[in-house]
Amino acid sequence: MPDLPSISQIIRSKRKSFSLEVQPDGQLIVRAPRAATQADINTIVAQKASWIARARARQASHAQLYPPKTFTPGEKFWYLGQQYPLHLVERRHPLLSLNGAFTLAHHAQAGAKKAFIAWYRAQTRQNVQRLIAKYQAQHGFKVNALRITSARTRWGSCSGKGNLNFTYRLCMAPPEVMEYVVVHELAHLRVPNHSRTFWAEVARLYPRYQHARAWLKQHGHLLTLD
Ligand SMILES: [Zn+2]
Repeated sequence: MPDLPSISQIIRSKRKSFSLEVQPDGQLIVRAPRAATQADINTIVAQKASWIARARARQASHAQLYPPKTFTPGEKFWYLGQQYPLHLVERRHPLLSLNGAFTLAHHAQAGAKKAFIAWYRAQTRQNVQRLIAKYQAQHGFKVNALRITSARTRWGSCSGKGNLNFTYRLCMAPPEVMEYVVVHELAHLRVPNHSRTFWAEVARLYPRYQHARAWLKQHGHLLTLD
């Protein structure tokens, strides 16, 4: 019998089924029903051994193709679906700006990631605000509060009471993808689930949404500062 894949973490909850997740660093997380025994978990993991190996190989080749950012000159960063190289310049302010290329103040290089996050946050807020205003004017949505988050896996969320959240990474995506994500969350103000009614509402608001959705599925993993 082959070795059992190593398990990094077991999370028990009142769920009824098992789920396995391989993280970017290869760690395996098992979500299990509260009553599951270690033997139950080992059986599931053994059954899924080849799936786990494939997922780990995929994560490893991704890490090799897209090494972590180093914030050094020439490295490229996304904005609105385009990639721009980074230059270092001698100046006090602003720490970071975009004008055909990203220019980062030399003295800020050690805190480059922070400077990029602050810049992306501001840009995402501005772009999302403009889109919300457009749909508010055309379709009468009521948005209570807009929050820009650091979510890694979710592009946006709708927390009820008209509160919308978007990750700062959103403005890395092409404009039509940003618009789809904003429309998606706005549509949740009217339909909280992903039922057929929901997708019909998204299609009514933004008929070309399927292209944007497919783009995000295929390229979304690239839009990161990690
Ligand atoms: Zn949704």
